[in-house]
Amino acid sequence: MLSQFCHQHQQCVDDALAKAQMICDDQKVSLTPLRKKVLKLIWEAGHSATKAYDLLESLKSDDPSAKPVTIYRALDFLLSNGLVHKIESHNSFIGCSHPTRQHNCAFLICNQCGSIQECCDDGAMMDTIKTNIDSTSFQIHNITLEIQGICLECS
Ligand SMILES: [Zn+2]
Ligand SMILES: [Zn+2]
Ligand SMILES: [Zn+2]
Repeated sequence: MLSQFCHQHQQCVDDALAKAQMICDDQKVSLTPLRKKVLKLIWEAGHSATKAYDLLESLKSDDPSAKPVTIYRALDFLLSNGLVHKIESHNSFIGCSHPTRQHNCAFLICNQCGSIQECCDDGAMMDTIKTNIDSTSFQIHNITLEIQGICLECS
């Protein structure tokens, strides 16, 4: 299931956590053990998105006192620091595959296996969207593009 993205997913998890630490040090924000744990859980789910509820359940096995607000605060932190993305159509979360670069990405979501890939185009795709929207004088806060289909592995 993970083979189109990686051979050793543990490597992805380790890399993601190391990068997150680097980014937080750089931004002088603190990757607390809880934030790190939530990020780790999100990555350990593989290249697919995880619901906050499932994160809470996993967290509870370690810390029975964990509450939804515990998870949402950690997710807010991870989202605002670009370490995870929210997949709106699934109301779930996925680790950013290249958090050291600022970017707008489209998410390619496989309807069969649930894998999610970030598709980056260095801005051209988003620029086209923005140029089109500019003429309506609508103020954009955020663009999330989610494209559903069948991945290479499943096709
Ligand atoms: Zn992987
Ligand atoms: Zn990303
Ligand atoms: Zn698939």
